Amino acid sequence: MLIVQKFGGTSVGDLERIQNVANRVAKSKDAGNDIIVVVSAMSGETNKLIGYAANFSKNPAAKEMDMLLSSGERVTSALLSIALQEMGYDAISLSGRKAGIHTDDIHTSARISHINTDNMREKISEGKIIVVAGFQGITADGDVSTLGRGGSDLSAVAIAGAMEADLCEIYTDVDGVYTTDPRIERRAKKIEKISYDEMLEFASLGAKVLQNRSVEMAKKLNVNLVTRSSFTENEGTLITKEENIMEQPIVSGIALDKNQARVSLRNVKDEPGIAANIFSTLAENNINVDMIIQNVGHDGNANLGFTVPENELENAKEIMEKLNAAEDLEFDSNIAKVSIVGVGMKNHSGVASTAFTTLADNGINIEMISTSEIKISMIVDEKYSELAVRSLHEAYNLGQRE
Ligand code: ADP
Ligand code: ASP
Ligand code: MG
Repeated sequence: MLIVQKFGGTSVGDLERIQNVANRVAKSKDAGNDIIVVVSAMSGETNKLIGYAANFSKNPAAKEMDMLLSSGERVTSALLSIALQEMGYDAISLSGRKAGIHTDDIHTSARISHINTDNMREKISEGKIIVVAGFQGITADGDVSTLGRGGSDLSAVAIAGAMEADLCEIYTDVDGVYTTDPRIERRAKKIEKISYDEMLEFASLGAKVLQNRSVEMAKKLNVNLVTRSSFTENEGTLITKEENIMEQPIVSGIALDKNQARVSLRNVKDEPGIAANIFSTLAENNINVDMIIQNVGHDGNANLGFTVPENELENAKEIMEKLNAAEDLEFDSNIAKVSIVGVGMKNHSGVASTAFTTLADNGINIEMISTSEIKISMIVDEKYSELAVRSLHEAYNLGQRE
């Protein structure tokens, strides 16, 4: 079997853990498999580097950030390869470039355009264990690029797809995908199998156990994806096609995203073209707007509110001030998005009212709501967001799920 094994930041968090990873990889190799390893930077490393850059600039050039951030993954790939060689294995570390990962030039959130697998195929045919530095690729100009936070998951899935691997294992610090973040609710239950669509929704709404773009890619390329712990032998969670799952629960889990911020515009002119102007300017500046609400106008004015990722708030602020879009602008980063996810919701009513009642019973105010067929998202005060997650987890009996 050809297996792609990705080890996240905590799994390679110190030298002892890198040795532990080397032992695990060696075991899979000894079992007769071909192995491509993808590694993250040691935990905390990427944030540390971002902090270093912030020391010099509020808005560092994205190209320089890629030069900086890609170094974290190179360190771990080389160290793991050295550890494996010392154990007698023929291992080789590859940068994104050497692994043939080509991207566009949107630095710090580049998209993979294609993977040239020649080098990896050659190394595998020679019996080598390949250790790829995750999270990075190369632009057409030959510059290093990175794939966005959590992007090593995407590197692993994309490589698994391009190499037609039999399996892609994402090793992390929890046993798999749970009904909610097990660090917030200890009664959270591990999900044995989850569909690509549901996992995509979960990941997009803040369950960082898998990066959302990696799930999208897994679905597109039909990659057999498993998340499991690098610290135990427990079976993980299989992310698979919907038809492989016997019974869909109505609600599968609760996701929390604390990295959200809200922009409120009071007394915006209530006339055609205003929203178009605001949101197209944000889009031109690559700012992702998520929830939007506008109330009914009075006296030719309306109030408009929307959310953006917290790390884009500064940019959004600047743009709003420049546009002079409203008399009164307000920004708030102390908010969080709590979401209920479930493919089974499509055919059931009453899911939303349970959520609203539960939060009301706990005295939590809902500031914004958005729904789709398979999710309900609510913006609440960040202070109460974990309480919201736990009470919703309880309200839908997710701790009792078999
Ligand atoms: P890695 O460094 O291995 O990439 P991450 O920190 O990115 O790991 O993702 C793993 C973390 O995701 C877990 O430690 C857990 O706190 C968090 N998490 C959030 N939601 C969930 C969920 N529903 N199931 C499992 N883990 C979750
Ligand atoms: N090191 C990068 C990050 O922290 C990529 C990854 O770990 O997947 O976002
Ligand atoms: Mg991750």
